[in-house]
Formats: sequence, C-alpha cells, structure tokens
Amino acid sequence: MRSGDSGDRGRIALAAARERRVRTREGVELCVAELGDATQPTIVLVHGFPDSKEVWSEVAARLADRFHVVLYDVRGHGCSTAPKPLRGGFTLEKLTDDFLAVADAVSPGRPVHLVGHDWGSVQGWEFATVKRTEGRLASFTSMSGPSLDHFGHWIKKRVSRPTPRRIAQALGQGVRSWYVYALHTPVLPELAWKGPLATQWPKILERMEKVPANGYPTASLPTDAAHGAWLYRDNVRSRLRRPRNDCYAHTPVQLITPTGDLFLSERLYDELELWAPKLTRRTLPAKHWIPRTRPDQLATWIRDFVTSNESGVPVVEHPPSGPYADRFAGQLVLITGAGSGIGRATAFSFAEAGARIVAVDLDAESAARTADMARLIGAPEAWAETVDVSDEQGMEKLALRVAAEYGTVDVLVNNAGIGVSGSFLDTSVEDWKKTLDVNLWGVIHGCRLFGKQMAERGQGGHIVNTASAAAFQPSKALPAYSTSKAAVLMLSECLRAELAGTGIGVSAICPGIVNTNITRSARFTGVDEKEQRKRQERSSRLYGLRNYPPEKVAEAIVRAVVRDQAVIPVTPEARGARLLYRLFPGALRAVARVEPPI
Ligand code: NAD
Repeated sequence: MRSGDSGDRGRIALAAARERRVRTREGVELCVAELGDATQPTIVLVHGFPDSKEVWSEVAARLADRFHVVLYDVRGHGCSTAPKPLRGGFTLEKLTDDFLAVADAVSPGRPVHLVGHDWGSVQGWEFATVKRTEGRLASFTSMSGPSLDHFGHWIKKRVSRPTPRRIAQALGQGVRSWYVYALHTPVLPELAWKGPLATQWPKILERMEKVPANGYPTASLPTDAAHGAWLYRDNVRSRLRRPRNDCYAHTPVQLITPTGDLFLSERLYDELELWAPKLTRRTLPAKHWIPRTRPDQLATWIRDFVTSNESGVPVVEHPPSGPYADRFAGQLVLITGAGSGIGRATAFSFAEAGARIVAVDLDAESAARTADMARLIGAPEAWAETVDVSDEQGMEKLALRVAAEYGTVDVLVNNAGIGVSGSFLDTSVEDWKKTLDVNLWGVIHGCRLFGKQMAERGQGGHIVNTASAAAFQPSKALPAYSTSKAAVLMLSECLRAELAGTGIGVSAICPGIVNTNITRSARFTGVDEKEQRKRQERSSRLYGLRNYPPEKVAEAIVRAVVRDQAVIPVTPEARGARLLYRLFPGALRAVARVEPPI
C-alpha cells in the first residue's frame, strides 16, 4: 500500500473514535472504542493473537458510515487491564463475561453483530454457542479462528474413525499448529516476545503476509503477545480433550476462509453445517491477516451479512449459486467487450457467483442489456459503461469513474477484440493500426489503468486477458490478428511475473473457434464490400457448425481466476495447437501454410 491512500483511513478513523472503559464483575477494565451512529445496528469487532483492537482499524473505517462499530481490547491486551493472576484469567468463560459486559454497555437491549478474527473468532464461537448469550447476538462473522469444541470433535472423529485421508488431514493441521505447542512452554514465549520477536514481527508480517506497516502492530505488541499466550494455555488442551457436545450456533454464521492461511487448514470447516445450521460460506485467496490485507472485501461481506440479518431479507433476490458463489460474492468484476459473445457470457458467469459487474462495450445498448441481465441472474449490482478500449483518454476517464463510483476492480477481464483476416500483403497500415489499437492497446490500457489501481490498493486481485489460440498457431491468413494476440499472451506472461508477490494474478485465455458474433463483424482485407460480406457469412456458418459455446470459455475464465492459471487454451483445437507448439513446432508451421476454408 502506498502512502496517502487507504492505509491511513483506519488510523484516522480510530483516532476520532469515542473511547470508554467498561469494568467487568471481576474488576478488569476493558478499553472500548466506538465509531459511527449509535442508533444504527451495532457491530462488535474482536481481535486475535498477538493483536489489539487496532488490527480492525481499516475494516472499522469502512463500516462506520452505516453502522455503530465497536472495538475493544481483549483483557490483558492494548489499553485493557490484565486479570490477576494471569493463569486461569483467560478462560473462554471469563472472556464471555467480558463480551457481555461490552455488549450491555454499548448496545443495551439490542442484539449485536459479532465479528472475530483469529482468537477473536475462537472466542466468537464460544459466544455464539453458549446458552447465556442467546438473544444478545444477531449474527456472527468468523474468520481464521475455529471453535475449540468443533476442533475437538474434528480431531476425535479422525482418531476414532481413521482413514488415510482423515489421518493426513489431522497430521496436516498438527504441523500447521506448531506455534500452539510453542506457546504452551512456560516463560519462553514471554521472553521471546519481550525481546527480538516483537521488533522483528512487523517485518515478518510484511514479508510473509504482505501486511502493510501503517500504524500496525502497535507499541503494546510485546505485552499483547505475552498475555495472549494465556489464551492458549487456559483453553486449548482442556477444550480439545473434552469438547462440549452442545456447541451449536444459535445465530446465523458467516464463515470467511482465507485459502492461503498458513495456520489453519480449510478442511477444519468441512462439517461445520452440523454445528452452524444457518451458515454462509465465503472464501478469499489470501493469507491469515485479512483484516489488514483485505479490508475492502471484508467490509463488503460484513455489511451485506449484517444488512440481510437486520432486515430478514436476503441482500440479493437470487442468492449466488454455482461452484464459485463463496468466492466472488460482492467482488467487483469489470469486463470489456461485455456486450456480446465471450465477454457477455463471462459477465453472466461472474454474476451467477454473486459478483458486482461493470459491463464495458463500444456498443452502449448491448452493454446495458448485459448489465440488466446480470442483475437478474444474481449480480447484486451491475452497471453498463460505453467506451472504446483503444481510446487512451476514454479509458482513463473510465478508470477514474469506476474507482470513484464503484470502487477498485477485483477482477479485470480485458476481452474486447476484433477479427481481421487477410494476407500480410493485403493488410493496409490502417488495418494494422486498428487491429493493434483494439486487440493490443485495449489490453494495455486496461492493465495499466485498472492494474495500477489494484496494485495501489494492495489487496490483490486478478487480471484476465483474452488472447487466442492464434497467439501460438501461425496462419498465413491472420498475420495482424495473430500478431496482436501473441503480443497479448506475452504481455500477460510479463505482467504475471511483475505482479507475482502482490497477490494479483494474471491469466491469458486462448480460445480456439468459438461461436460468437466476431465473424459477423470481422474485417477481411484485400477484397471489395460484396466479397467481404460473403466471407463474413461463410465464416459465421463455419463457426456455427463448430458451435463451441462462449459459456464454456466463460467457465474457463472463472476457473482460471480461482486457480490462478497462467495460460489457458480452451477448445480441443486450441489445446492441440498449444501441444504442437511445444513439441512439434514444425507441424504448426506446415498448418500455417494451409489456405483457410473462408
Ligand atoms: P464478439 O464480437 O461476439 O464480442 C466482442 C465484443 O467486443 C462486442 O460486443 C464488441 O462490441 C466489443 N468491442 C469491439 N471493439 C471494441 C472496442 N474497441 N471497445 C470496446 N468494445 C469493443 O466476439 P467474441 O468472440 O466474444 O470476442 C471476444 C474476445 O475473444 C476477442 O478478444 C476475440 O479476439 C477473442 N477470441 C474469440 C474467438 C472466437 O472464436 N470467437 C477465438 C479466440 C479469441
């Protein structure tokens, strides 16, 4: 994250927060910060280990315009006082007392929406499943912190009914939990955190997790970590050995799982529906510290979940469906050339998964139709934008407008393109310019403008560029088109290398022959108007006979984003050409000389 951008937003918001102290029955003083209008629904954010409430500053800043946002330092952390003695002072029962004291102080008589990260989420599961909090919770959003009771049952099941897969899962999680064993050793963790570990921690977080070092972690880190070790010692062994049997959630739960979490396996949540009947799942390609690295996405999901539970009405009329619904819901996806063919089908696939859609096309009417349809299919919001992707200034204006009105794009699909066919000697300078302007410069503008916004936001994302099998299959009939697509393929590979490590993936899609409108608008060089129309009709017939649907390309695009694939040949002929290109390039050169059937 660069200076002056959203990195300062959280710090500024928290500096302006109203602070108060809440005294618990036991005499511990909890430091509570409040943002936003107290008459609005209350969201309580609980931090984890080794953290203080400041871990939530970026998320809180993004929620405060609509909600009453409350953050508190868990006992022994930040500005809250510690229990005496420390041993036995951090049990989940006592932490539940603290939560109820805060909830009663900030939202008397009205249930609160709870959000927890890491140990804040472990605590949250306790609050969401014990009897005495019933009626005090309106919803619970959990991230990177399982219920110790559910975890205990998960281990028991794998030990009592072992299969090779279950044993591998248990061992895998055992390895990820190395730090839990370390924290159970006496005194050493405290010494480490009061010494070199605390000074190195911000650098470790920046290097391993890409956590920007803007006012986080705070100066209380050594004490937070030393006291936080008691969270583990007071709870983990006893709960894992004897998990509660009545650990059912009495409130709707939203589970956000970062797929790259180094400490927790996704498998831990496999059977969660058993314990949390009203469960909404979300996944995010990110590591553990998502409140710092993905605040925009978290704020969107929390806002939607809270709003829908407050009103009792689902946020969208048609809840997202399909295999990727938990991955793209609420994300902003911009597609160029979205008025027809592959672009339109891609807009619909992302809409089905619950993404917000910006449909961009040269043709205003078709872009508007795509946006309308996307809304019907499942996009919570969809907009149409008219622009020529080859127009530098037009694209710059579009990028500014999109950032100001809809936010930073999470997935960019540079798809707009035109077909041009004809020998090199028949291709005029104008034809070359037009082809490269749309097919290559359109992609360059998209990457440079929206890619830059993504990189500056520092919260990852994905860029998909539609190249073609023509990028690696030479043809004497397609010199301009193939050159433009080969350039798009190479641009994508270079950009992928450049953005590696920023959390932004880049994919090049290389379809073969797909039944779209491209043949009806394709330009055939070196022939008169009449012959041009004839060739357009003939090629359209051939593409129709081949009849490969654009929806399958759209599926490949969505999959490429989920799996972060580099180059994806779609259609059997594209996959074949890619194989020949690698193994027998001579064979491809022979094919290049063949006169095409149009
Ligand atoms: P299509 O003609 O059905 O759709 C292309 C869309 O892009 C149209 O809505 C068009 O209005 C829009 N467009 C064209 N020029 C534009 C510009 N300058 N600015 C903004 N929008 C513009 O074609 P399609 O087959 O869906 O093509 C999509 C992409 O897939 C293209 O890049 C194409 O080269 C590529 N591709 C297509 C095939 C195929 O067989 N159809 C194969 C490989 C690659």
